Amino acid sequence: MLKPFRTFKGGYRFKNYKGQAAPTMVLNQLPPQAIIPLRQGFGTEVKAQVKKGDRVFAGQIIGRDDNSISSPVHASVNGLVEDIKRMNYFKRDINMVVIRRIDDSQEIKPIPGHSSEWGKLNTEKMEELVYLSGVSSLDREGIPTRFKSSIISPDDVKHLIIHGVGSEPYNISLDLLLEGKLLLNFFEGVKILKRIMHNSKVHLAINAHKRNIIEQLEKLSSNLEWVEIYPLEPKYPQGYDEMLVPTILGQKFPYGYSAANIGVVVLNIQAVLGVYKAVAEGMPMIERIMALCGPSFKENIHLKVRVGTPLKNIVADRLRDDSPRRVVLNSLLTGFELNDFSLPVERTASHVIAIPENKHREFLAFAKAGLRSDSYTRAFLANWLPGIRKLPDTNKHGEERPCISCSFCEEICPVRIIPHLLSKYVKRGIIDETLMNYGIFNCIECGLCSFVCPSKILLLKQMKEGHEKLIMQGCDRTQCILPYFNLKGIEEYRGVTKL
Ligand code: SF4
Ligand code: SF4
Repeated sequence: MLKPFRTFKGGYRFKNYKGQAAPTMVLNQLPPQAIIPLRQGFGTEVKAQVKKGDRVFAGQIIGRDDNSISSPVHASVNGLVEDIKRMNYFKRDINMVVIRRIDDSQEIKPIPGHSSEWGKLNTEKMEELVYLSGVSSLDREGIPTRFKSSIISPDDVKHLIIHGVGSEPYNISLDLLLEGKLLLNFFEGVKILKRIMHNSKVHLAINAHKRNIIEQLEKLSSNLEWVEIYPLEPKYPQGYDEMLVPTILGQKFPYGYSAANIGVVVLNIQAVLGVYKAVAEGMPMIERIMALCGPSFKENIHLKVRVGTPLKNIVADRLRDDSPRRVVLNSLLTGFELNDFSLPVERTASHVIAIPENKHREFLAFAKAGLRSDSYTRAFLANWLPGIRKLPDTNKHGEERPCISCSFCEEICPVRIIPHLLSKYVKRGIIDETLMNYGIFNCIECGLCSFVCPSKILLLKQMKEGHEKLIMQGCDRTQCILPYFNLKGIEEYRGVTKL
């Protein structure tokens, strides 16, 4: 059933940013050496099932722990295990299996028991395929199966939200992900998930501007009363679980906990396609579609990349070499700045973004204008004329300056807290319940306040500092929410970790 258009207060619509990835897919070359983290996506680190010198093939399980909340990890190339060592991987200390590739084969060994006629499989078999493929580790709290792949069981899921909103400044092309037969595969994936999470209602949250996709999904779901389709404004950060739950279900989010704690599973389109491939084709999750975005790439395209491929094998030869730039993984606003390109990609990697480094001051940046501004511009030309593209760069508009009380941060904050006020408390060292009363624990760390601030105050950094200092003082964020929710799975919940 098609529901009316929805959105939320605050937030910002990123439009016309130069360097969007074209809907073109290129197969990235297999890396000579794959480095596979034994913890990928949601779940705990798993134990290595191989040792140095072992021969492995693409798709073979090389790490698994059925007793912890986790999902198996696979070799992504045919090769020899060269080493198993601990490495610092984006601020986490993780065991890595290093595999030296020995042939050029693109073949991936399928998981036994899969079937293109998946309707004939029993639910336990489907859950097993989802678990063994590793797709169950995707998104914030994994996909629940009876194999300890999430903090809740499939029976506990009341709502499954699947989103293709595309609200970041740079997004993977929805047209590419759901082109031709892939749309049908996606919908089969939705039906498989409904079989597994049989008590759930399914909500498809799609960018309202993708009318063609919405119409096709409407036809496919016309006789299924458990599917609802929501056209959403692609306004940042609509793709966050904290925004999808209130926008779609009209219910409060348990800030500090996750959607799974209230019986809601939120998945993206790639995860659902992965579910279909696992159950119908037996494909382990060893490939990712990644978008190369931003003006500092020679070409903005999508790449099909094997998990474990070092970033240097992805970006080398593709970056413009004529100017200074900043390279960021996954999200322009909240992603990791990349300095070490020897690190590999894991199954949740989605974007590499490269933007020009620009330290020049910009005159009257706070006037919200400027075609090449990386800041909060509502200049009508830059937003509405399709031929004009805004050029994102790292322009800081000079050094940090005092707050000018413009309230941009307040009007844009999607969770309706007051960043400039909270930041002043944190700066002055006033770390007490006032911060909690003003809702600092509701901050979802989306980074919009820092992005829009004309004085370039590091508001997001101060929010995080406030959180940390309150927690160090023994303040428990759960005090703010527990009276309002009956949370599931909190014994297993360890806090959200995003890469
Ligand atoms: S980072 Fe936090 S305070 Fe800033 S806009 Fe996002 S939610 Fe609001
Ligand atoms: S912190 Fe920045 S955005 Fe917020 S009111 Fe002050 S100057 Fe404006």
